[in-house]
Amino acid sequence: MRIPAVFLTGLLLMGLAGALGAARDALADGSPPTELTPVYPENFACGPITSLFGSMTDLDHSRRSEPHVGIDLGNRGDVVIAPADGVIRAIWRVEHGWGDDWNVLLLHAPADLNLPGQAVVYFTEFDHLRRDDIAHLTVGARVRRGDRIGVVRHPGNNAQFRAEVHLEVYEVPANRQDEMTWHTDGGFRYWVNHAARLIDPLSLLAQHQREIVDGHVEIVPYHATGDYRAFRGFIYPLSCPNE
Ligand SMILES: [Zn+2]
Repeated sequence: MRIPAVFLTGLLLMGLAGALGAARDALADGSPPTELTPVYPENFACGPITSLFGSMTDLDHSRRSEPHVGIDLGNRGDVVIAPADGVIRAIWRVEHGWGDDWNVLLLHAPADLNLPGQAVVYFTEFDHLRRDDIAHLTVGARVRRGDRIGVVRHPGNNAQFRAEVHLEVYEVPANRQDEMTWHTDGGFRYWVNHAARLIDPLSLLAQHQREIVDGHVEIVPYHATGDYRAFRGFIYPLSCPNE
């Protein structure tokens, strides 16, 4: 769930595939390009990842028209949290034609993720949020890992869709991060940065691991009392109640 087919058609017709085009090429064979799969911790009730990056199957088990450009997570009511420190880059409303959603975009510098170098930054986009749930957020404000972003709801507040938050992550050359343009197609508002490269969010969730064995990514839930000064990458972007 995320992008109406009409939007994709419009995007391609307008030649604005920049941000998504490379990923779509990489995903064109319909198989997940990274083959990363989550492994959930024992003793925590983490809302699940319900659709992986590159998947051709939507939550209702119908076939997608395009490979999935992000991951879908959560059960209705799960709290969505910042997976790392960052800055709120944008907040915007999206009209899908079947109900409106609000999206939030975070910007993470490598230092926010304890990753080396300064050549790239990361954008994390959260879709299908409710306005009331994100009223506390302000563009330009700094967020800390674990801060509340919103709540998992039905997309468009429309109960015919399974509740989810859709998450996309982009790697962007740091010196081109401001090359962002905004477009509206029907009520569908979206950003384009031609230098942005879509990546599997699980690849940042895997950064804390010494190595990835069989594509397994160990999900690390956020702890309010945790010490993350040396933690690399993303914690799980949903709060996970301790069972
Ligand atoms: Zn999705």
